[in-house]
Amino acid sequence: MASIRRTLSPYTDRSHQNGLSSTFSPQSPSQKLFSQGRTTLSPIRRFVAGVFFRKHQPRKSLQFSWRKPFLRCFMCFFLGFLLGMTPFNSDFNELRGDFRKSDYSLEMKPEVVSVQRSAGDLASVEKPKEDDLLIGAVELGVVERADKTDMKKVLDFVPGKQLIVVTPTYSRAIQAYYLNRLGQVLRLVKQPVLWIVVELNEASKETAETLRNMGIMYRHLVCVKNNTTDVKDRGVHQRNTALEHIERHKLDGMVYFADDDNIYSLELFESMREISRFGTWPVGLLAQSKNKAILEGPVCNGSKLIGWHTNEKSKRLRRFHVDMSGFAFNSSILWDPKGWHRPTSDPIRHLDSVKEGFQETTFIEQIVEDESQMEGIPLGCNRIMNWHLHLEARGLAYPKGWMLPKNLDVVIPSK
Ligand code: UDP
Ligand code: MN
Repeated sequence: MASIRRTLSPYTDRSHQNGLSSTFSPQSPSQKLFSQGRTTLSPIRRFVAGVFFRKHQPRKSLQFSWRKPFLRCFMCFFLGFLLGMTPFNSDFNELRGDFRKSDYSLEMKPEVVSVQRSAGDLASVEKPKEDDLLIGAVELGVVERADKTDMKKVLDFVPGKQLIVVTPTYSRAIQAYYLNRLGQVLRLVKQPVLWIVVELNEASKETAETLRNMGIMYRHLVCVKNNTTDVKDRGVHQRNTALEHIERHKLDGMVYFADDDNIYSLELFESMREISRFGTWPVGLLAQSKNKAILEGPVCNGSKLIGWHTNEKSKRLRRFHVDMSGFAFNSSILWDPKGWHRPTSDPIRHLDSVKEGFQETTFIEQIVEDESQMEGIPLGCNRIMNWHLHLEARGLAYPKGWMLPKNLDVVIPSK
């Protein structure tokens, strides 16, 4: 008994003085904690117990002290802060084991159907390991093999400006051919290239699959338009969906509108990387109906613009004679108007209301004031780097999903 007495806290001593027996009194958890041998309690446990279980303890005196309520508040705040800072997803998931992420995810379904990371997004990702760097470098064509002796080459590599290629597309007979052809050209272009493909109202399975298998960075977007009957040119709204996306996510690179049905050279994409603000070049136009080729675009002295090629009399009133596939511009003009000294910060968009043939000029007039803000590429603007073909294939039927419901009849000629 003597030894017990020695280990009793001053509180139990006092309770005895108050007329209660320390040996038989029902003890609160705090009292138990204290009576479990005072000498064995660490200062931290004593502190914690003091903060949380104070109300069960007999008062030392009637004099009120602010110290403990303050400490209690502080501890609660501190615990709350720690809980708040805990990474919820990973830890919670581990604790719950079979609890699936999607059950509590607050993520909103974006209009982007399938997203791969752009080079800009990679900035926030933690530092990659050497092996990952080597594998990435092989994919980009910086080195041929993932060999550590080439590490210096990899570390010295400075990627070129990102190209943001925007393609509106729609389901028709030769869509798969067009998308594959353009995708394969983009695959051969030095990376980083981001291909933004936009469809109207829904993302087709065929397009999604083509993009997935292409092996390049892409974003598959959907332009939602309920009333499509009053829309003159559907490509306009799809291109605007891509512009909104670039602006919202502040994607950094050279924006280029590449229709799915045109013909592009690799040189074209490489030349675009030299542009600072707005670049333009002459495009060859081939009109099936007119059975002739014409040229549209700048006449240059070096990279300075001194005139325009145009053969269309009806379009002479246009301010700039540029084809939709004959210009590219710095994406930051979309989201950093002040940086480029733009007179207004109105969003830059294609307009559905303009006359046929004036689509490009009304768009470009929002980006540049005059020819002095344009750069002609390649030097001298004396090469055609892409062709705009007007080949109509709207009415052609094609098997859905490119699947043949039954085997083709085969006729084998007899010898
Ligand atoms: N386009 C589209 N929806 C349409 C019409 C066109 O997405 O209803 C796309 C088309 O796939 C192409 C671009 O817009 O990438 C230009 O269309 P088209 O080739 O018919 O125009 P043109 O060459 O005659 O100016
Ligand atoms: Mn076309």
